[in-house]
Parts: sequence; C-alpha cells; structure tokens
Amino acid sequence: MTATPIDGKAFAADLRARIAREVVALAARGITPGLAVVLVGEDPASQVYVRSKGKQTREVGMNSYEHRLPAETGEAELLDLIARLNADPAVNGILVQLPLPAHMDEAAVIGAIDPDKDVDGFHVLNVGRLATGQKAMVPCTPLGCLMLLRDRLGDLSGRRAVVIGRSNIVGKPMAQLLLRDSATVTIAHSRTRDLPQLCREAEILIAAVGRAHFVKADWIRPGATVIDVGINRTEAGLVGDVDHAAAREVAGAITPVPGGVGPMTIACLLANTLTATARANGLPDPE
Ligand code: NDP
Repeated sequence: MTATPIDGKAFAADLRARIAREVVALAARGITPGLAVVLVGEDPASQVYVRSKGKQTREVGMNSYEHRLPAETGEAELLDLIARLNADPAVNGILVQLPLPAHMDEAAVIGAIDPDKDVDGFHVLNVGRLATGQKAMVPCTPLGCLMLLRDRLGDLSGRRAVVIGRSNIVGKPMAQLLLRDSATVTIAHSRTRDLPQLCREAEILIAAVGRAHFVKADWIRPGATVIDVGINRTEAGLVGDVDHAAAREVAGAITPVPGGVGPMTIACLLANTLTATARANGLPDPE
C-alpha cells in the first residue's frame, strides 16, 4: 500500500488564509501586525528566504519591514537596530536571518531580541519556556511539523516518536513539542547506536539530518507517519533526508520534499507573528 502524501503546501495555504482572516479581525480594532526581518550580508539562499518571507507577510495583510545590512556591518550596529525594533510598537515580530557573518556572535544577537517579539523562538528564554511548559514562542519548522502530525494523527499521546537530529532550530524543539503532546520521544544523532533498529520502533519518525536519502525504507515501521525536514540540494534537484520513493511503499503517510515541511515554516512564522501581536495587545492567543 502506498503512503498517503502529507500535503504541507495545501495545509500552509489554508493556514495563511486563516491568518489573513484574523488580520482582518484585528484591523477592526485598529491593529496591524508587523514583522521585521533583518538580513546581514548577501548569502543567496538567505536572500531568497527573506524575499519570500516579506511577500507572504504582505499577502496576509501584515506590515513587512525589511532591513538589509552589508556583510561588514559591526555587531554593535546590528544590536542598535534590534534595540530600535524592540522599542517600536509597530513591530510585533523580529527575525534575524541566520546564518550571520562569522564576525558576529549569534547567541548575543538572538539574546538581544525582546523574547516576546522573538518569532523564531530561538531566544534562550523561549527555549526555557517551551521546556518548562510555559507560554513560549515556538520555532517555526518544528511547529509546522507538529501541526501536520496533529492533523494526520489527532491525539499524539502515548505515540512512539523518534527524532533524528538534535539541532537547536529543529531537532531539540521538535522533541520538546512531541513531549508536550505526551508522545514518548527518543532523540537520535550522529552518535546513536543502531539507528535503523531504533527507527523501526517509531510510529512517528522525524528526519532532520541534512543528508540526502539518509533514511532507508527498511528503517521505517510499516504504517508509520514520516516527516522529512531535510532540504538537500543535489544534481537531481531538492531532495529530503528520506529515500522517499522506497519509503512511500512502507510508511502510512509521508511528507514530500519539496511541498511538505518547507511551506509550513513561513506560514508558522506568520502564525507566530499573529500570536505575538495578540499577546502584545492583551488578546487571547489565536486558535
Ligand atoms: P544540523 O546540521 O544543525 O543538524 C543535523 C543533525 O543531524 C545533528 O544533530 C547531527 O548529529 C545529526 N546527524 C548528522 N549525521 C548523522 C548520522 N549519520 N546519523 C544520525 N544523525 C546524524 O541541521 P538542521 O537541524 O539545521 O537541519 C536539518 C535539515 O533540515 C537540513 O537538511 C536543513 O536544510 C533542513 N531544514 C529545513 C527547514 C525547512 O523549512 N523545511 C528549516 C530548517 C532546516 P550531531 O548533533 O551528533 O552532529
């Protein structure tokens, strides 16, 4: 039996439409959410991301503020800009596009963002809030994965989940979110022993490794839900971390690459900006 494709593109379009309706409702209260995106340098992939973030922000009716700084900008100048954005009531969300040039201290820059405007969810305060069950800003990519999982599986309580990857932006927050939903979670990484056998236990398998076709079909438990976070540029085009063509014959449901997790990331950035706006105005979190 071939796995059901999990259509992240359609889900993300639907999420953006819901956000746009919320933005209209906020406008009636005289509120327009604003997202500031800061790009330092000319990294081509980052430029593409920043452009599409700006476009999608405007499409849902939010204000987009783009700040492009030259690669040689000093850290103090960037921190000044962040301080101004923190103080600006028109700005509800602040995102500093990573990676930063090598002369900058990434942790110090992220640490300078007002945690309540930290729509990437990378500030240590948000990491701590998520880990301790408090209201947090949650990193966009794992939040998108969680939405797809809940949509597919409903209640995740008691499910066996394996997350391959322990990065701060994907693996670790993904594990925290699954734990928050009462899944039984194992985090695997490059030192994990007998990864294939571990993966075979997973009803939910998340691959966030960064290696093309790393997860093989015979690692997958029949009927499992597989979320492929990987984006790997190969001669054959963009491919995920899962050997998709073979995995499809074993899994119960699987995200394609492209068109799976990718589109969810920016949609969740907009969702986080909406949440930050609601909280800043003393309104309940949007559904
Ligand atoms: P990182 O490189 O930061 O982390 C990769 C993780 O994979 C590490 O924890 C590493 O383990 C683990 N790993 C590497 N090799 C192996 C191995 N042989 N066996 C088991 N684990 C291994 O990557 P990111 O988390 O930033 O990103 C992961 C992937 O997701 C990338 O392809 C990236 O492009 C993609 N991505 C996609 C996004 C989207 O919007 N769809 C957003 C963000 C990322 P260790 O810690 O031991 O080194």
